[in-house]
Amino acid sequence: MPSVLREGQTPPPEQFLQQVWQYQRIRRADLCTSDGRRVTVLHPGFLNLEAGPDFQRAYIQVGRAAPVECDIEIDVASGGWHQHGHHANPTFAGVRLHVVWQAGAGGPNDMPVVELRDQLDAPVAQIAQALGQAPAVPPGSLGRCAAPLADLPATKIHDLLGQAAQTRLAAKAAALAAVAEQANWKQALWIGLFTALGYKQNSWPMRRLAELLPQLGQPTEPVALLARLLGVGGLLPDQLDRDRLTNRHLRTLWDQWWRDRDRLAKRILPKGIWTFHGLRPANRPERRLALAAHWLSRPNFIPWLDDWVCQTKTRPTPAAALLKHLTANDEYWSTHWTFRSGRFAKAQPLLGAGRLHDIAVNIILPWLYARSLEDNNAGLRQRVVERYFAWPKGQDNSRLRFVRQRLLGVRRISLRGAAAQQGLLQVQADFCNRTNALCDDCVFPDLVRRQFLKKN
Ligand code: SF4
Repeated sequence: MPSVLREGQTPPPEQFLQQVWQYQRIRRADLCTSDGRRVTVLHPGFLNLEAGPDFQRAYIQVGRAAPVECDIEIDVASGGWHQHGHHANPTFAGVRLHVVWQAGAGGPNDMPVVELRDQLDAPVAQIAQALGQAPAVPPGSLGRCAAPLADLPATKIHDLLGQAAQTRLAAKAAALAAVAEQANWKQALWIGLFTALGYKQNSWPMRRLAELLPQLGQPTEPVALLARLLGVGGLLPDQLDRDRLTNRHLRTLWDQWWRDRDRLAKRILPKGIWTFHGLRPANRPERRLALAAHWLSRPNFIPWLDDWVCQTKTRPTPAAALLKHLTANDEYWSTHWTFRSGRFAKAQPLLGAGRLHDIAVNIILPWLYARSLEDNNAGLRQRVVERYFAWPKGQDNSRLRFVRQRLLGVRRISLRGAAAQQGLLQVQADFCNRTNALCDDCVFPDLVRRQFLKKN
């Protein structure tokens, strides 16, 4: 046992406090805030291993207030709130309970605080030992659907996820068709691609840039396109004196941009629209726009997609061929994260294989599917569906792990291909995201019993 977890020593580390909360090793029946209000934990929330509050979607009641769904932050001391910058971080805006080992100064204003040190259900050492043998799936992590799903054979689970994946493909296609209805198919694809390139943090400004493409005009050189995208995006630095390569690249971009700036001045996005907080350098919008500029500059970028989906033999595989088509090398951006970062020795892809893979499954295949529906082209539709269901599995991520644990617990089912992953995400979107952590009123468990268990 780590010495910090022996009685009477320094406060336990934050990770231990997270486990205490996750496994609810507290005196739940009489849990109180530091100002004496009773706290009822209807659900402790889900441990968040990414940036943001420690627990998300908790369901709690403080005093006589109505129960609320909220996030919870765990810190060793109250002062951690300001020291870690949570007060200024918008991702912590949903936190309604601060859980600390010992309360004191420097915590969030007007937020209930639960002090753990006198409210554990057993001595620290005893809890630490028990947590070492705790079940892999913490209580409350399983959804209500886990019980009927546990009775389903793996083949039926694959059928179910396949149906959900088909629904997801159709839903994404419908969303792209709605955009095409307002603009055109080409524009719908660019809007989808740009939005995906923005990922979570910058999807909206990227989408706005894509919406402005018809007004930007389409020079054929990637650097001229990039100058317009960065200029309208408000991402071109005024002055910079860095290495020779950076200065040269900036000069080239400005040479292009000064010619267009007056014409496009009214379209320039406000600087604050971009999110850089917590953004990995590899995900900077400048690099994403550099990739988009390469795509836009290729006259065959979209026609190639139409050919590709119709080919019966694509070497080495359809996925590899598409990923190659989406890859580009840029003289400057392949070796720089930002204008200010130094040059790295080995070129790095402008977008990781995982993200390119997501773009294929979430944008390109749905876009082709939507077009097949519009043209009433059953053959094309069949080809797209075959590609979709044969598409290799993407990288695992925290969202997939979360929903897999909610639905399947520790049951190991090998999910075949990207479609099964998409199916899981569709169940989450259609059911989990429409209720609380207690699965109140979720109809999915009944649906599983009715549609899949009965036929066993
Ligand atoms: S909300 Fe529905 S689908 Fe999601 S875990 Fe709960 S029962 Fe399952």
